[in-house]
Amino acid sequence: MKSDIRVCSAWREVHDRPVYTLSETCPECNSATENSAPAPFDPNDPYGEYRRALKRRNR
Ligand SMILES: [Zn+2]
Repeated sequence: MKSDIRVCSAWREVHDRPVYTLSETCPECNSATENSAPAPFDPNDPYGEYRRALKRRNR
Protein backbone atom coordinates (compact mmCIF):
# COMPACT_ATOMS: atom_id res chain seq x y z
CA MET A 1 0.00 0.00 0.00
CA LYS A 2 1.31 3.37 -0.98
CA SER A 3 1.13 6.20 1.48
CA ASP A 4 0.28 9.69 0.33
CA ILE A 5 1.05 11.22 3.65
CA ARG A 6 3.69 13.88 3.40
CA VAL A 7 5.73 15.61 6.06
CA CYS A 8 7.06 19.15 6.27
CA SER A 9 10.64 19.04 5.03
CA ALA A 10 11.66 21.83 7.40
CA TRP A 11 9.90 20.62 10.51
CA ARG A 12 13.15 20.09 12.39
CA GLU A 13 13.95 23.77 12.11
CA VAL A 14 10.45 25.19 12.25
CA HIS A 15 8.30 22.90 14.35
CA ASP A 16 8.63 20.94 17.53
CA ARG A 17 7.42 17.78 15.85
CA PRO A 18 6.83 16.46 12.32
CA VAL A 19 3.91 18.14 10.59
CA TYR A 20 2.04 15.65 8.43
CA THR A 21 -0.19 16.72 5.61
CA LEU A 22 -1.62 15.53 2.32
CA SER A 23 -0.69 18.81 0.67
CA GLU A 24 2.55 19.60 -1.16
CA THR A 25 3.19 22.51 1.14
CA CYS A 26 3.18 22.64 4.90
CA PRO A 27 -0.08 24.15 6.19
CA GLU A 28 1.80 25.78 9.06
CA CYS A 29 4.99 27.19 7.56
CA ASN A 30 4.37 26.84 3.82
CA SER A 31 7.59 24.92 3.23
CA ALA A 32 7.68 22.15 0.69
CA THR A 33 6.74 18.74 2.02
CA GLU A 34 8.28 15.39 1.26
CA ASN A 35 6.86 11.90 1.17
CA SER A 36 6.97 10.54 4.67
CA ALA A 37 6.80 6.86 3.79
CA PRO A 38 10.23 5.66 2.66
CA ALA A 39 12.85 6.59 5.20
CA PRO A 40 15.93 4.56 4.25
CA PHE A 41 17.89 6.09 7.06
CA ASP A 42 16.51 7.82 10.11
CA PRO A 43 19.21 9.63 12.08
CA ASN A 44 16.84 9.76 15.03
CA ASP A 45 16.16 6.04 14.97
CA PRO A 46 16.83 5.00 18.57
CA TYR A 47 17.63 1.47 17.45
CA GLY A 48 19.81 2.49 14.51
CA GLU A 49 23.05 2.10 16.38
CA TYR A 50 22.04 -1.26 17.78
CA ARG A 51 20.93 -2.46 14.36
CA ARG A 52 24.18 -1.33 12.75
CA ALA A 53 26.19 -3.10 15.43
CA LEU A 54 24.17 -6.24 14.88
CA LYS A 55 24.73 -6.04 11.16
CA ARG A 56 28.45 -5.71 11.66
CA ARG A 57 28.49 -8.75 13.89
CA ASN A 58 26.50 -10.87 11.48
CA ARG A 59 28.55 -10.32 8.39
ZN1 LIG B 1 6.23 23.24 8.27
